[in-house]
Amino acid sequence: MTEAARGWLALQQDLGGDEVILDRPMVATPAASGWRKGAPPIPGPGMVITLPQLAFGGEPAWESLETVAAAIAECRRCPLCEGRTKTVPGEGNPSARLMLVGEGPGENEDLSGRPFVGRAGELLDKILALIEAPRETVFIANVVKCRPPKNRAPLPDEREACRPYLRRQIELVKPKVLLALGSTAAEALLGVKKPLIELRNRVHRWDGIPLIITYHPAALLRNPNWKRPAWDDVRIARQLIDSDS
Ligand code: SF4
Repeated sequence: MTEAARGWLALQQDLGGDEVILDRPMVATPAASGWRKGAPPIPGPGMVITLPQLAFGGEPAWESLETVAAAIAECRRCPLCEGRTKTVPGEGNPSARLMLVGEGPGENEDLSGRPFVGRAGELLDKILALIEAPRETVFIANVVKCRPPKNRAPLPDEREACRPYLRRQIELVKPKVLLALGSTAAEALLGVKKPLIELRNRVHRWDGIPLIITYHPAALLRNPNWKRPAWDDVRIARQLIDSDS
């Protein structure tokens, strides 16, 4: 049994699954729509959504991820600053080929100042290991950098206030592929509100960068039935990373 297969079985155990899934995705993928390794990802009809640019109004053009983080640490652009313990600017490889975007800090993240710690973070690490993209090779950021009260989803005004930071982080990292985790991240990057099931399993684009949307790890912990579609989604991301485009 390969390392990847062993990891996948362990992941299914963690998710409470009682089935073994090692076959190929049952849903449309870039490969199914004519994409092959070595060729640019060409999604099928209706699979590409051209995304609006994120607004970037009047802020300085932060020159590095460190200066973005420093600006976040001082930020009081929205009410979320009132309840934060630490800001969570994001972290990872500044030249990552894969950049993940989550929703916002939870309790553990607020206390530690790091994204995706706790059970959801452990699950994310396992998912990343399965596509041979361990945490130290990727960059992880959130839509908002301060914890919303009681872990509620960030409000539209809060997302809008925080938008310049995420935009600049993506511009600086210049990832080959973006992976949005959950509907809040999807909505923030796409600029449209749709059920996640309608957005996953296809290649979108953010400012020309391929963007895959899948379930948030916390949602996978609550709903093990989503593990298979999430696995399909991250494999699409892996295919895009490996493509020559
Ligand atoms: S959530 Fe973003 S915009 Fe709001 S205070 Fe924190 S860093 Fe600033």
